[in-house]
Amino acid sequence: MNTTYSLDLVEPEAPLPKRRKTNDMAKTMVQGNAEQQQQPWSNSINNRYKGRIILTTYPGQSVVDPVSLNWGAADPQERGPVLVSRHGETLKKRNAIGAHGGSYGIYAALAIAIGDLPTDFRPNFQNTQPTFSPPQQPAWGDANKIVSMDPFGHEVVKNYQSYLDAGLDVRPTIAITRANMRLSEVTEAVRENRLQVDGSVVVNASGDVRVTKVAVEPVWYLPGVSKRFGVDEGVLRRALFEHTGGSYPELITRPDIKVFLPPIGGLTVYIFGPPERVSDPNVKLALRIHDECNGSDVFQSDICTCRPYLAFGIEEAIKEAQNGGSGVVIYFRKEGRALGEVVKYLVYNSRKRGGDTADKYFTRTENIAGVRDMRFQALMPDILHWLGITKIDRMLSMSNMKHDAIVEQGIPIYERVPIPDHMIPEDSRVEIDAKINAGYFTTGKQYTEEELKHVKGRGWQGWEDVTH
Ligand SMILES: [Zn+2]
Repeated sequence: MNTTYSLDLVEPEAPLPKRRKTNDMAKTMVQGNAEQQQQPWSNSINNRYKGRIILTTYPGQSVVDPVSLNWGAADPQERGPVLVSRHGETLKKRNAIGAHGGSYGIYAALAIAIGDLPTDFRPNFQNTQPTFSPPQQPAWGDANKIVSMDPFGHEVVKNYQSYLDAGLDVRPTIAITRANMRLSEVTEAVRENRLQVDGSVVVNASGDVRVTKVAVEPVWYLPGVSKRFGVDEGVLRRALFEHTGGSYPELITRPDIKVFLPPIGGLTVYIFGPPERVSDPNVKLALRIHDECNGSDVFQSDICTCRPYLAFGIEEAIKEAQNGGSGVVIYFRKEGRALGEVVKYLVYNSRKRGGDTADKYFTRTENIAGVRDMRFQALMPDILHWLGITKIDRMLSMSNMKHDAIVEQGIPIYERVPIPDHMIPEDSRVEIDAKINAGYFTTGKQYTEEELKHVKGRGWQGWEDVTH
């Protein structure tokens, strides 16, 4: 992609006549000196930020000397570290837009603003190294296969110590640890002899399970993301700029920077059994891809199948690990189909007040959100490539969108396993039957449009509604 697209976007609104004439663009971009401003907060802000505010940067400025970042290079040294901080020397060396921490980046800003965290804080990484070193996969060196996470994000200290020593703010975007977990459904499965205590995966009769966990923050390689969705990179950059309140002007002014750390949630991988088995093509893999649904996953509301399907996925993953294979559950922070809980609850109200039938299920969401789903599974398979998964023996999901996204990435799925009927809460039939009608995989009954009118949710009988 050449750079002309972004200049086309910039010039009508922000002409840069002096751009080629001076090396000291910083001055032209400086928006005054904080000390000279009269805002009531100017005194307190001066305690944190003594210098001038650099609103944005442009290629070729004297303050711009990015460390090269060759996305898709298989050698981490050749690839280079992801540098996103605007602090100190790192500002000059930055090669990425956004901030670390995903959606938690804002809390870090708040901590600095209130004085809990110095602006020049640097983490001490002693003993933080992964509990398991995933073997490097061919996909780590393929700019088309991994576009939404940094394949070397867990090995920052190992690979980029010299940058850390030089005072640059390099941070991991992946962390790998291990834990014991206890889920009431697993405890019940042990009690009912569906799962056995083996002392290795299921460690005791209480149903405690050993698990390896991998947390991943999003790191987007913008040319790769735009290619995955089949959109122009300039259009993607413009949309990201406009619809984050203009928060990241360098999306427009720095076409040379190709990497963006977006302020969104990431994902967690839960691996049952020895983690090195995940990438072994000779053993079976059971996999559930789960998108966050806090109301069901944690609080067990019964309007959807999320928690039951998650528990079923974990149970099947454990069984596969106990059978000598591998079980993986990947949990994406995409609450309420990535529409968020406010939209989700508005939809619930509209469903319950409008006659909650399966034929109207998607229309209710579309009326409020404009679309029925914003999870856009196209980026999801990146984590499978990173883990070295080349085939899925048992896919514990009925979603056609997840299935298609994975298969399109060249990873075959040999078997799809629907949630067992007895695990579906009564009130969630509306959701699951509407989804099956819309293309979700099932081995059971598929309802016609006419029949869906008679699949009805519980309604609010016995509750007093708000009166106006
Ligand atoms: Zn749910």
